[in-house]
Amino acid sequence: MLATLRFLGCIATIVAAVPALAQTDFPNRTVNVVVPFAAGGPTDTIARIVGEHMSRTLKQPFVIENIVGAGGTIASSRVAKEKPDGYTIIMGHMGTHAASVALYPKLTYKPDVDFAPIGLAAGTPVLVLAKKEFPAKDLKEFASYVKANAGKLNMAHAGVGSVSFTTCLLLNSILGAKPTAVPYTGTGPALTALIAGQVDYMCDQIVNVVQQIESGQIKAYAIGTPERSPALPNVPTSKEAGLPEFQAQAWNALFAPRGTPQPVVDRLAGALDQALDDPEVRKRLLALGSVIPDRAGRGPQALEKLVSSEIDRWTKTIRAAGPLD
Ligand code: ASP
Repeated sequence: MLATLRFLGCIATIVAAVPALAQTDFPNRTVNVVVPFAAGGPTDTIARIVGEHMSRTLKQPFVIENIVGAGGTIASSRVAKEKPDGYTIIMGHMGTHAASVALYPKLTYKPDVDFAPIGLAAGTPVLVLAKKEFPAKDLKEFASYVKANAGKLNMAHAGVGSVSFTTCLLLNSILGAKPTAVPYTGTGPALTALIAGQVDYMCDQIVNVVQQIESGQIKAYAIGTPERSPALPNVPTSKEAGLPEFQAQAWNALFAPRGTPQPVVDRLAGALDQALDDPEVRKRLLALGSVIPDRAGRGPQALEKLVSSEIDRWTKTIRAAGPLD
């Protein structure tokens, strides 16, 4: 009798252990990384750099899928409803996972409820940029020109909810200007339009513009962070340039749908951590002006806190900026 009980107990232990073992098998097939903007923009670039390294660590392909529209909120809403198994994750950012809450009263997902945070991938300072022919030599002249000519100026952005939209909303509200807002599917294509002189100015994450600024293809008037970026040492901070109220630092981070098993989230977070420690990945991210999170700023808990404080911060900023039109 005792032996039978022991035997049954043993089976029960094995059965209970099976799901845990199966979870640690993750991933055993391709991981789909959704980028909520067009290829060639900051979000896409960061996803490709860290995704490539994570794929090597986890020994499965990481495939980037660009799903564009509505400032990244279409893709975010889709990923929030995906099967929570870790095989579909999203490279979100300050717009999709914070500012969108105040910008869309009917947002169909809650960034702080419907996602399992995986980790912060990069901090991305935001710059005030203009086409190379823009008739202003510094931020003060830019500000006067935009105030006086807003009616005939075109401002590029990546959709309501994007970083470029939100941070230029802040800039325009500081200047009291209402230019024509021209939406693109990401700041990759918006940058192409800026270089071609089809639009006058935009605000964007530093990633992807360093080389264009240095080669004179576009102008950069200021960076919205307290310190200059080592990647662009000649671009003044907004404070140095006379507009200290323009504080704009964005970020990109990986999220899985809420309900993703913890061991799966942990494996993804661990692989992201390894990517951020890799000398080659660091070199590439730093050259693009990204700020690599330190140990305390990494992982699911740190990202959870960041999302909630950023929702707060941008909700206040957007309300103070007034109506969107
Ligand atoms: N910079 C984003 C991109 O990756 C778009 C945005 O949020 O402005 O295209």
